[in-house]
Amino acid sequence: MSYPLYLNQISLQAWNMQSTVLQNLKEYFGYDTLRPAQVPVIESVLDGKDTLAIMPTGGGKSLCYQLPALVNEGMVIVISPLIALMHDQVEGLKKNGIPAGIINSSISSWDQIKTTRAAENGELKILYTSPEKLLASQGQFMDWMKEELNISLIAIDEAHCVSQWGHDFRPEYSRLGVIKETFPTTPIIALTATADELTRGDIITQLKLVEPQIFISSFDRPNITYTVRPKGNDEQAKEQLVGFIQSFEGQSGIVYCLSRKSTEEVASLLIKSGISAAAFHAGLSQDEKNRTYSAFMQDKLQVVCATIAFGMGVDKPDVRFVVHWNMPKSIENYYQETGRAGRDDLPSEALLLYTPGDAATYRRFIDVATPTGDRNIFEIFQKLQHDKLERLIDFCNTGHCRRKILLQYFNEKQIGNCGNCDGCLNPTAKIDGTEIAQKVISTIYKTEQKYGITYITEVMMGLESERIIANKHNELSVFGVANDMEKEEIMFYTNQLISLGLIRVDYNGYIKTLALNADSMAVAKSLEEVELTPYSEVTKKPKKTKTSKKIKSELSIEDQEYFEILRQKRQEIAAADEVPAFVVFSNATLLDIVEKKPKTSEEFSQINGVGKHKLDKYFDLFSKILV
Ligand code: ADP
Ligand code: ZN
Repeated sequence: MSYPLYLNQISLQAWNMQSTVLQNLKEYFGYDTLRPAQVPVIESVLDGKDTLAIMPTGGGKSLCYQLPALVNEGMVIVISPLIALMHDQVEGLKKNGIPAGIINSSISSWDQIKTTRAAENGELKILYTSPEKLLASQGQFMDWMKEELNISLIAIDEAHCVSQWGHDFRPEYSRLGVIKETFPTTPIIALTATADELTRGDIITQLKLVEPQIFISSFDRPNITYTVRPKGNDEQAKEQLVGFIQSFEGQSGIVYCLSRKSTEEVASLLIKSGISAAAFHAGLSQDEKNRTYSAFMQDKLQVVCATIAFGMGVDKPDVRFVVHWNMPKSIENYYQETGRAGRDDLPSEALLLYTPGDAATYRRFIDVATPTGDRNIFEIFQKLQHDKLERLIDFCNTGHCRRKILLQYFNEKQIGNCGNCDGCLNPTAKIDGTEIAQKVISTIYKTEQKYGITYITEVMMGLESERIIANKHNELSVFGVANDMEKEEIMFYTNQLISLGLIRVDYNGYIKTLALNADSMAVAKSLEEVELTPYSEVTKKPKKTKTSKKIKSELSIEDQEYFEILRQKRQEIAAADEVPAFVVFSNATLLDIVEKKPKTSEEFSQINGVGKHKLDKYFDLFSKILV
């Protein structure tokens, strides 16, 4: 259904000729180009097609409906589950001169009336609302939309919330199919950063999308450096955390913790070390939450120590680091949470402090979870969660390129190593694992790709279990091929092969079996060699990793000073307007000013992120300090 990207890049040339799209992009957003992944999505939307856009966090999803809103007549309705984020989005749009509004339960009735009028009068380009509001009072709100508004597009943000299998399931989202029933001819764009096929299918069916165009961008976030380190004992853990954060002087970051209590403990540890930090979790009063959130957004608070629940609600483009003080629950969660860093495309770091204790805690959580609904479905769900946890543990234990493994998890193949993760920057010794890989692969092959990791391991060890004898697998040539190894050792290597994509995992209901793919065959035929982390590395103490490679450090001393001056100016303006600093200008924009050193208003307008509205508003304020 989706077509290759290069076709769309060619049609961008055609757009260049039409150029209304790009004109709007520069005039309102200050950008000169669309990102390659945005092009086909926006094109499909402008063609009036139902569209599903899967893009990583920070990929630029908002523009995919905001730009069409400007190009088309009428207005765009945006449905988002994140009430707190709507305000920042709308503030940002208004600063760019785009009329936008919000109607949801957090808005005073007076403001709702004003926004309703403005929408009816066609004065708004974008209207944000929540699924609750949309579905409230037997569809009265939707009736109003249908009768009173001229709607060009309906955008459904965080569309993965429809999926019962995902971690963010929202019951109201599963009722959003009524949108298509009510507005059969209005195109819908569904957006999410969750890539798995199950969720994708759910989105399409539940939202009743009609012949949707599907676009999946690469999930690579090249500007994020991934590091996983053993947490060590209490003292070592604290030392690592404080040292890491101190290297990010004055730059925003998030520390994710497992419990409310640990957010409090970590925050007070940081405060004691002279770092401005606060805890953020569901147990705080709304007032406290709002205060912490705004302080963080306005750069008055450097670090937020948050429970995972905070993850979905933070949309600050210049978060420079994300630390996992506790292990995330799955690779998806890890990817989502680390994805909060570096939305502005500037170098950022993700540090995970790993301890097997956390893994044990999660295993217990999964096992003691109270079954809800159908018992069988619950068990499958439980099994899936265990598998996801195991994949994450493999990710933590690997000595390979972490990005390769992350992308592999999303079925994306990375050629070569990334050079920007601890696996690449601080490689542990590798052994030639071709032989053991071949043994595992032929055991899977000879047992007809029907068994899980434990069974395969036992055959390789030469264990005469009842099951193996009943299957006559003790008669196979591979029986006992690895009888010089321990069980854990064989499993350690097999798990690495899975992470590297050299063995496939099939799910038959909740039974997980190992199977082969084309890459396994290449290894079996000795066409490809395999490097593995030796088993002996597991228990070894790792070397110290180098920490941040910060944005400013790539500038000369004078430029660093200039950047600081610009940053302070931005801070002043933001404080006066009571908006987050990035709403005024992003760091990327400040860096572009440092680089291009504009002096005239004409030159200033060429800066990335300076649209017409911001030029009028801010050029005078900045002109006095331009050098
Ligand atoms: P997502 O919703 O996919 O996480 P956003 O829409 O918040 O991502 O965009 C992330 C950042 O990228 C924002 O700061 C946005 O202004 C910036 N951005 C988006 N599109 C472009 C573009 N074409 N050129 C430059 N910056 C962009
Ligand atoms: Zn790497």
